[in-house]
Amino acid sequence: MSDLTSKEVIILGGGISGLAVGWFLHQKGIPFKLFEKQDETGGAVTSKRVHGSVMDFGPNSLRDRSGKIRELADDLGISQDLIQISEALKTRYIVRDRSLKELKPSLFSLISTKVLSPKAKLRLLGEPLAQTKSPSDESIGDFLERRIGKEAVDYLVDPVFSGIYAGNIYRISKKSVLPKLAEYEQNFGSVLWGAIRSKKEKEKVKPMVLSFKKGIQQLTDAISQKISDHIIYDEVKIVEKAEPGYRVQTENEEFTSKNVISCIPAYSLGHLLRGFEPELSSELINIDYAPMLSTQVLFKASDINPKREGFGFLVPRKERIRLLGAIWKSNIFPELTADDYFHANLMTGGAHDRGILIESVEDVEKEILNEFRELMGIDVQPAFVKSHLWKKAIPQFDVGYEQTKQRFKQFESENPGLYLGGNYRWGVSVPDCIQGAEELVREMADHL
Ligand SMILES: Cc1cc2nc3c(=O)[nH]c(=O)nc-3n(C[C@H](O)[C@H](O)[C@H](O)COP(=O)(O)OP(=O)(O)OC[C@H]3O[C@@H](n4cnc5c(N)ncnc54)[C@H](O)[C@@H]3O)c2cc1C
Repeated sequence: MSDLTSKEVIILGGGISGLAVGWFLHQKGIPFKLFEKQDETGGAVTSKRVHGSVMDFGPNSLRDRSGKIRELADDLGISQDLIQISEALKTRYIVRDRSLKELKPSLFSLISTKVLSPKAKLRLLGEPLAQTKSPSDESIGDFLERRIGKEAVDYLVDPVFSGIYAGNIYRISKKSVLPKLAEYEQNFGSVLWGAIRSKKEKEKVKPMVLSFKKGIQQLTDAISQKISDHIIYDEVKIVEKAEPGYRVQTENEEFTSKNVISCIPAYSLGHLLRGFEPELSSELINIDYAPMLSTQVLFKASDINPKREGFGFLVPRKERIRLLGAIWKSNIFPELTADDYFHANLMTGGAHDRGILIESVEDVEKEILNEFRELMGIDVQPAFVKSHLWKKAIPQFDVGYEQTKQRFKQFESENPGLYLGGNYRWGVSVPDCIQGAEELVREMADHL
């Protein structure tokens, strides 16, 4: 058994959360070991160069609100490879009546868009007048229906949450996912008014949507390279109490340490803690993860007519189209696609469509490709198609999730030195995971 009880920290999992924890520990000169069960790091971050193009089967773009991604890229020496999307490409389309309707990120566009009927626009813009009293937690669908009306929820809120978060808006918790909007309602009596007021107050750093010349995996690869001496490719099987600290049993070895940081998915950690904390273990195992099918398609650019500017489109569930949305990858990051091709990333599945877990990938691909071609007016077949099925893609923060998070906190206070991290704790986006990792390392560094 290796005794790491002096100061060495153990990190479980080499996705972006575990790697970021490792990187911030490394920067502070704190020794650590990171265990990853696959033969490469990155977890959901997966970029492959295929057919002359970079294909991100996991995250496609990083919304850098705070400047942290730019700072991290600088520290890692890869800032020269950062790429960003232009303002013009922030235009998105929403499907309504089986056609693409433009929506720009501005109040004027909200008034002029064909996504909503005139009646729905009036209801939406009259939101500050809506007198509602909200319970402390409820689904974002119920909350926003009362504030902005059913049609705006169906055509604006639902596509964002089902397309990007793979979720069901009538299950996702307002308190976990939109705490700011709930606060605005409390403090200003209006979510729109609160959002406008707070926008004026903040924004010290220019938000950007970013990727890298080799795809998002360039970021996780760069961290892995810097901390490669600390990474052990071995699966963790058991975590339990030892005196002092914790015993970590891997496939091949056994370690003890006073500080263990889990950055593996909730269900994986649940299995490791079965003997040690059966209650928390089953709570972790029961956290719902929605599946996602990420399908990369390449068409000859000359087959896409007329060529549209923009980020891509999202499909409201009300439209009864299986496809959740498409990112026009060659529009937003042309550097990543071979010349003369149009590259799109199609998303299917989510909490509404678990059928993708039992149907054959080929059948689902065929169905969504037909839908995509019809919506885009493309008559020809793609030059290339490749899918990746994520059986447990995105953790779902359903109503009641705040209580689950409270139990995580309680568990940590009863078991000092054992920390629960990762996207189900810190938020699903890659920048959320990085921020969570940095805050945790800052907090624990004082106690080491
Ligand atoms: C299809 C898809 C699209 C997405 N799009 C975006 C996007 O555009 N932008 C964005 O910001 N985010 C996006 N996300 C979300 C984001 O990618 C993830 O939330 C984030 O990458 C999760 O990182 P993580 O390190 O917490 O977990 P993971 O990436 O799941 O990493 C966990 C790691 O732990 C390892 N592991 C598990 N069990 C063990 C064990 N017992 N022992 C050792 N190792 C173990 C796994 O192999 C894995 O490497 C997307 C996610 C998916 C799936």
